[in-house]
Amino acid sequence: MARIFCVANQKGGVGKTTTCVNLAAALAQAGQRTLLVDLDPQGNATMGSGIDKRALKSSIYHLLVGLADLDAVRVASPSGGYDVLPANRDLAGAEVELVNLDQRERRLRNTLQAFDADYDFVLIDCPPSLSLLTLNGLCCAHGVIIPMQCEYYALEGLSDLVNSIKKVHANLNRDLKIIGLLRVMFDPRMTLQQQVSAQLEGHFGDKVFRAIVPRNVRLAEAPSHGMPGVVFDKAAKGAQAYMAFAHEMIERAKTF
Ligand code: ADP
Ligand code: MG
Repeated sequence: MARIFCVANQKGGVGKTTTCVNLAAALAQAGQRTLLVDLDPQGNATMGSGIDKRALKSSIYHLLVGLADLDAVRVASPSGGYDVLPANRDLAGAEVELVNLDQRERRLRNTLQAFDADYDFVLIDCPPSLSLLTLNGLCCAHGVIIPMQCEYYALEGLSDLVNSIKKVHANLNRDLKIIGLLRVMFDPRMTLQQQVSAQLEGHFGDKVFRAIVPRNVRLAEAPSHGMPGVVFDKAAKGAQAYMAFAHEMIERAKTF
């Protein structure tokens, strides 16, 4: 059975896509059969996996509205070692179309059920909003991974996200829980970041992952080469942190 995780945070630019792509590649390197689902019309996870979003014949959009089947949409990441359900701007239109469809928040869930046996991990890269697309992700996930920067305002946004997750848990998906908070773009020289990091540990305990992803330029450079950071420069500190995170996820997934 595949364990399905959403990487979510309603803020943009907090490291969701970087986390999704690098976790997928690190899991693949650790021998886990992994599928990355790009649910963001920006298609950054698609591009970062080395797949040209402009050249797609069909995408996750076609899958969600029932215009294509899985095998027409699924592609392998050439460098990543995992599979991708890619996205591009077509997906922006899905939001409107989904509203009128049957089981609109369960479209992805129903689709993914068909290949549950093909994967150990499914990772869903969510858009920076609490939209119907994100809801589709949350409806089929066993857990949510929340990447966050250790800044003052990060804590404020967190309570909105936690409340939304509670609502989905209560109304749509009893399996859903927060797996953990991942500290990303961390700069240990900043006192404020250390303080917020300590606050997070105090408040959320072992819901905070032990792995901490540092701010690391190699992770930011990797997408322009169409590669996950853990493939582009395995030895870089950021890549190492994502490998450690992948091993933590494999451990946690065993307790499911
Ligand atoms: P989101 O998907 O939440 O919008 P991204 O993963 O796209 O966020 O990250 C936003 C920007 O920050 C991107 O340019 C990305 O390359 C960069 N970035 C993400 N994580 C790191 C990191 N650990 N170190 C340096 N740059 C990072
Ligand atoms: Mg993103």
